[in-house]
Amino acid sequence: MYFSGMNAIATDIRKGKILVSDGAWGTFLHEKGLKPGECPELWNLSRPDDVLMIAGSYINAGADMIETNSFGGNSFKLVSFGLASKAYEINRAASEISRKAAGPDKHVLGSIGPTGKMIIMGDVTFDELYLSFREQAIALFEGGSDALIVETMSDIEEAMAAVKACKENTDAEVICTMTFEKTGDRTFHTMMGITPAVMTKELLAAGADIIGANCGNGIKNMIGIVEEIRSVDQDVPVLIHANAGAPVYKDGKTVFPETPEEMAEYVEILIKAGANVIGGCCGTTPEHIRKIAEIIRRK
Ligand SMILES: [Zn+2]
Repeated sequence: MYFSGMNAIATDIRKGKILVSDGAWGTFLHEKGLKPGECPELWNLSRPDDVLMIAGSYINAGADMIETNSFGGNSFKLVSFGLASKAYEINRAASEISRKAAGPDKHVLGSIGPTGKMIIMGDVTFDELYLSFREQAIALFEGGSDALIVETMSDIEEAMAAVKACKENTDAEVICTMTFEKTGDRTFHTMMGITPAVMTKELLAAGADIIGANCGNGIKNMIGIVEEIRSVDQDVPVLIHANAGAPVYKDGKTVFPETPEEMAEYVEILIKAGANVIGGCCGTTPEHIRKIAEIIRRK
């Protein structure tokens, strides 16, 4: 295992390093021919070279860490493709591919997204979520992820089930980011009403090593989110994966409007606000990451 049990990312951050993460995966997979309704994670088994190319393009762009193609790799999502019994194999392969691209020196963050099931609606219990995330976390860790990133969460209970499943069953460093939107009163909430301050408190209690925000916002709005996290905790490492702006519907498809240069303009302000790791979410490309890396390495 790579860096396991070492909390290497958080340790670097506490030494004062600012790190670069990767950009979008979903957008990239669609560009390479993923069809609507197709299972993106199955590509780890059926088209590993295409997945490896995506991972490698972010390493070449200067990322210190890359994710895995496993965002929807939990059993609840895979069951809709008839693939629940392959969850271990699919997640393990996801890590092996990203590790191949990252080599021994860069970090691999095993991606864990939401299940789509809601505790509050009675779809699922906390324990059922925990067991599904445990299966995914173990497979990702055994495939070579040295960190696990629970991301795009809006329900704090689901986020906590995932963080606990990662912490209690692997030696990986555990990151958790939630997705916030700015509401009418100009404060930030997840779809389920969780603020960045509440997230910080709950996720630290659940054992997360690194917290932050991803998706939902362009990089500009991430500044206010980081400030709110910092208003309740000065010490926790903070990771931000921002979209390339808010999506707009144009010529029959969704596009993310921010250029690499536009996004890069906010990198220094975001670091000043207290972010320690910066990468991209939807709509960001290796070019966005290259620009972000240029700014960060200049410091
Ligand atoms: Zn996104």
